[in-house]
Amino acid sequence: MIPFLDLKSVNQLYRDELITAATRIIDSGWYILGQEVEGFEKEFAEYCGVEHCLGVANGLDALILILRAYKEMGIMEDGDEVIVPANTYIASILAISENGLKPVLVEPDPVTYNLDPTLIEKHITDKTKAILMVHLYGQVTAMDEINSLVQKYGLKIIEDCAQAHGAQYKGQKAGSLGDAAGFSFYPGKNLGALGDAGAVTTSDPELVSVIKALRNYGSHEKYKNLYKGVNSRLDEMQAAFLRVKLRHLDKEILARRQIADIYRSSISNPEVILPEVADENAHVWHLFVVRHRQRDKLARYLNENGVQTVIHYPLAPHKQDAYKELSCLDLPVSEMLHNEVLSLPISPVMSKEDALKVVELVNGFKS
Ligand SMILES: *Cc1c(COP(=O)(O)O)cnc(C)c1O
Repeated sequence: MIPFLDLKSVNQLYRDELITAATRIIDSGWYILGQEVEGFEKEFAEYCGVEHCLGVANGLDALILILRAYKEMGIMEDGDEVIVPANTYIASILAISENGLKPVLVEPDPVTYNLDPTLIEKHITDKTKAILMVHLYGQVTAMDEINSLVQKYGLKIIEDCAQAHGAQYKGQKAGSLGDAAGFSFYPGKNLGALGDAGAVTTSDPELVSVIKALRNYGSHEKYKNLYKGVNSRLDEMQAAFLRVKLRHLDKEILARRQIADIYRSSISNPEVILPEVADENAHVWHLFVVRHRQRDKLARYLNENGVQTVIHYPLAPHKQDAYKELSCLDLPVSEMLHNEVLSLPISPVMSKEDALKVVELVNGFKS
């Protein structure tokens, strides 16, 4: 079987470094929010080209805390609206509704699968306070057109970078393109911990100060609580693992690009729609997503022939039971994508031979 993502083999590459890091933490006697977290925050902020990074418990919390902090800062209030792509992973939308804000779903561009900038303006109302952009599958959303809207209407730009560590737009890294960004380091992401972890990046010092308190019970100073905060801290063990893995991230991105190049240059089945890289974009291929009208049949055929695939995502968020209030929305592009997308195996440890086997099978598929 060619696995979709062989995480064990990915982490095996760094086994010795990870064990050294774990030993350091075990022996340190300090396990939550300490030197390792500070070290990782500094290194990841530098990597993204921003002033600040704050480690939190996971990617969903990173997004929740950004919006929550804007509420504490008086920039947003209950019932305000946040624009978000309709075809995202549900976490982006949960972060909005969790804060008592209203998600306004906008269709993606059917070529890049990211928010279609031309459709945003007609959704802007007096209550619109932010655009939550999701750099889906590892490609950054086209920023120029969005930036002009943001200036015109005074909106905040929040980036969901859970799939885009290291991705670039015009040479600028994801996480540095808006007012604040949320990252996930869930094990399967391009920069993955060995457990749950997340981070916020921003160059806004006030936002940093508020989130720093919010993640720790709303407190800057022990037993003095400024906000009704939460417990969303990054632990020293995960931070130490992330420092190891950050050092190898760029190399892993290059390995992913080699697999993507093989797929893009060699898959020639006319019924398969390949992903496109938009101008000025450096894609990091968190996922290699193709489309086919008979997607389920293609997935079954690949599985029967020893290739594991995954669907990102089978059901649109507005069709989920959790969001019954959104079920009447008419979002044909998103629904079409949810019916047609299929993610082929890609990872930094995938061999060229395996990629070529996948190519051969895909090219041999007849619907
Ligand atoms: C994974 C993911 C998240 C959530 O990250 P967690 O660390 O699992 O909470 C949010 N948004 C997107 C687009 C994701 O892919």
